This record gives sequence, C-alpha cells and structure tokens, in this order.
Amino acid sequence: MSNQKSTIKNQDSQISKVGIIGAGTMGAGIAQVAATAGCEVKLYDVKQDQLDQAAADLDKILARLVQKGRIDSQERERIQGNIAHVDALSELSHCDLVIEAIVENLEVKKKVFGELEKRVSDDCIIATNTSSLSITSIASALKNPERCLGIHFFNPAPLMKLVEIIPAVQTSTNITELCKETIASWGKTVAVAKDTPGFIVNRVARPFYSEALRIYEEGMASIPAIDKAVKQMEFRMGPFELMDFIGHDVNYVVTESVFEAFYYDPRYKPSLTQKRLVEAGWMGRKSGKGFYEFA
Ligand code: NAD
Repeated sequence: MSNQKSTIKNQDSQISKVGIIGAGTMGAGIAQVAATAGCEVKLYDVKQDQLDQAAADLDKILARLVQKGRIDSQERERIQGNIAHVDALSELSHCDLVIEAIVENLEVKKKVFGELEKRVSDDCIIATNTSSLSITSIASALKNPERCLGIHFFNPAPLMKLVEIIPAVQTSTNITELCKETIASWGKTVAVAKDTPGFIVNRVARPFYSEALRIYEEGMASIPAIDKAVKQMEFRMGPFELMDFIGHDVNYVVTESVFEAFYYDPRYKPSLTQKRLVEAGWMGRKSGKGFYEFA
C-alpha cells in the first residue's frame, strides 16, 4: 500500500530546519545528530529542567569528543551553535521536518501532533520516533496525514547507525523517499519497515528481553549470570543491562503496546518483574537503580 497522490515536498526539496519535540534521551540525541549534519535544530520540551539537562549533557558529550580528539573546538562550537533549546511549540513553525520523541502514549502523541499541525507550514514533514505505536493511527490526528511517517532512531542516537523509516498507510511516497535520503545524508543506515507493532528491531528484541526475564523468574540463573552468558555470544550488552540502559518505563510500555497490538499473543506477554520496577520508580540508569545500581 502506498500513497502516490501528494504533491507536497518532492524529492528535490531540502531539509535544513529540523524541530524536535521532547528533549529526553532520544530527542536530545536526535538533535545532536541533525545539528552535526549541519541542520538548524530547535529542541523543544514542556519541561525547562529537561531542556537545561539536554544542553548540559550535550556540552559534556562534545567536550569529551574534543578531549578524545574526535572533533576540534571549532566543530564543537558549530554543533552547539546549530541547536536552540526552546520552550514553546510555536518556535518550530519554520521547520521543514519535525521529529516527535515524547512519552510512548498514543493519545498524548496524537494531541501534540494536532497542536503542531496548527503551527507549521503545510509542507512541513511530521515524524514520530515511536518504538511501537501505530504510525497510521498517529498520522490520523493530522488534517494532512500524507506528510507523516515514523523515523525511528535507536539509543544512543548519535552512536547507533540504524534508523527505521516507517511509512503510514497514508504517507506519500515523496515524503518517504525524501526522508530516506535525508537520514542517509546524516550518516545513518536506513531500513524501511512496514507499519506493524515494533517494526523490525523492537519486534525481534521482545523475546530477547522476555525470555531473559523468564529464565530469571523461573530461578534458572541470576541476572548477572544471564547477562554474562549472553555477552559471551558477542552481544555488547546483556538483556538486563540493556533494559536498564533503555529505561524500564520506556521498555515496559513498548512490550505492553506490542502485546496489545498483536491481540494479546502470549509470545509478547510483559513481565511482572519489570512492571514492579516501573512501579517502584526504578527505571534503570536514568533513575540510578534498576536491575543494577548506578552511582
Ligand atoms: P524520555 O522520557 O527520556 O523523554 C521524553 C521527553 O518528552 C521528556 O523530556 C518530557 O518532558 C517530554 N515531553 C513529554 N510530553 C511532552 C509534550 N507534550 N511536549 C513536549 N515535550 C514533552 O523518553 P525517550 O526515552 O527519549 O523516548 C521518547 C520516544 O522515543 C518514545 O516514543 C520512545 O518509545 C521512543 N524511543 C525510545 C528509545 C529508548 O531507548 N529510550 C529508543 C527508540 C525510541
């Protein structure tokens, strides 16, 4: 299924002004990627402390890159100069592309998309970084859904090469092609996926987490033992380390959403152990405690 009709943004259009909604883990990382590629970036969040944190984190990351000799101080200034941290959605009004990276909740995302559409031009492309929600359903919040698609970065966005591009049922082919080219020009490897729950990587990853949780819940091995064993198989992180890294709030909601979207197929059943961590506020690295403790 593809939508050939739209005349907005043909493939010769350029994307140079990028808006990001949500200055959390993903939004801040995507902003760094786009700014490094030379785009003028506006990073927006409802919380001022998130914006301050994102600016401070970027400062630290770039300082470390200078220290390691990966970039020089001119490049650091150029990247920082390309990002403005803004506290109003209306600041994104001149963007060619806006990527949303807020909480993984369909209704919240739809509401923000509706608000955003009122503030941007008719040919602004509106993308979501959702890990698991239906792009088609998010796009339906727009009067012009042909401009909407999924652009799914992985964590940490500046380091992870892969980006999944997910056209919704309504997305115009021009928009998909332009986004493929743009994201590739940012140094990423693009995989186009159909709009199905979890797309490619998050669907493949569900059993990686859930089987590890089951092995632990059945008392077959400890958390460090499972992580250690998996890492011996050339995985960079064990499943528990990875869940702590991603954040249990984000990871659990993605599992719940994939489970529901596949009509409660037991293959994707969420784990009570992980649910309890979320209820305790033990989200992993970002809160200082998850399966492991972080200083
Ligand atoms: P996060 O909790 O770190 O950040 C979300 C940010 O959005 C917060 O700063 C919050 O203040 C802000 N926010 C919430 N509502 C807002 C609104 N209405 N307007 C503006 N800002 C708002 O979350 P994250 O881990 O960066 O995840 C964001 C999205 O990216 C989710 O859809 C998630 O599924 C997806 N994702 C996450 C990962 C990951 O590993 N964390 C990887 C790929 C995709």
